[in-house]
Amino acid sequence: MKLNLKNILIGSFILFIVILGLVLFKSYPGLSKGILKRDLHSLVDTYSLRANDTKNYRNIDKSITDKILKTTNKVSNVRIPPRDSDRMTINALLAESIPYTWKQNFDEEVEIRFFNNTSYPAGEEPPTVTFTDSEKNMLRNNIYKTIYVASRIEQYFTKALPWTHGKSYYDWVIDSIDTINISSEIGTGSFGGDREITINGPIRLESIRDGDDSIWFNSQSGGGFFSFIAIITHEIRHNNDSGYFHMECDGSIGNDESLRYMGAWGVNVLSIHWMRNYLPPQMKTAAQEISPLTYLRRICTFSYDEWNSAGETGALSDFLSEEDRDWLRRISTLPLEI
Ligand SMILES: [Zn+2]
Repeated sequence: MKLNLKNILIGSFILFIVILGLVLFKSYPGLSKGILKRDLHSLVDTYSLRANDTKNYRNIDKSITDKILKTTNKVSNVRIPPRDSDRMTINALLAESIPYTWKQNFDEEVEIRFFNNTSYPAGEEPPTVTFTDSEKNMLRNNIYKTIYVASRIEQYFTKALPWTHGKSYYDWVIDSIDTINISSEIGTGSFGGDREITINGPIRLESIRDGDDSIWFNSQSGGGFFSFIAIITHEIRHNNDSGYFHMECDGSIGNDESLRYMGAWGVNVLSIHWMRNYLPPQMKTAAQEISPLTYLRRICTFSYDEWNSAGETGALSDFLSEEDRDWLRRISTLPLEI
């Protein structure tokens, strides 16, 4: 090829195109980031996206949520509801079969064992029952189901739970405890602490046999599946921070000092409050069958006696201390009503 002006111009043009191509190629990730940021803003405006939790949003491509989360580290308490929010029901969640891989992952994080972590004084043997293999299976599966269903319900909240520090319910569980003991003792309750919880096996077996495993709420007995969630959530809470110990008030022991303390009874009240207000409409309806009163009675700043003498009517929040009422309004933007 001759080295004349025409060829030099053609050569320079080709070189220019190659360099331009390289520059554009190099800047492509930046461009895509810009697009992502715009998408992100519309997502944040439309929905709520909770930071630090991508695992549970199965309907959304993980690579997308990961990228979004990287750019939203400052956004908290904001969540993307699952795609089937408009048609999901609590009964459908209760009937879901638990994926094998879910159980496998859970087993890697938390050991479920049959163990009498007795609270009896030394030297005194508590009366116990002997579980058959099929009873042990029932109890073990009930523990899986309780945590699985609670985690599934939590994915539908449009506002993050107030005590998990932005973690999903599932991550909160596996970060709080290492062991779940199913005790065969008769006459002792359930308790939690030292990264363990102990569930009373005979009592739970009786509830499973009563059908509480497959019904959300039994209005006759006050039991049902929610009671399993409440017990496990309560005992796990005793493993957070200082242990959220109970105290004595109004002549009875084992109560929480206030609602804003967010102790073990407090998280029971707040779970119900969240379900009644921050679930899709059809799930909310099922949740509204359950009153927080059973748990609220265990909070020292709630005056059950006043509520009782007022004819047991009116918003429950009216019978809470002013500090708790203000706190509840601040964190949930809603009063606690029944
Ligand atoms: Zn407790």
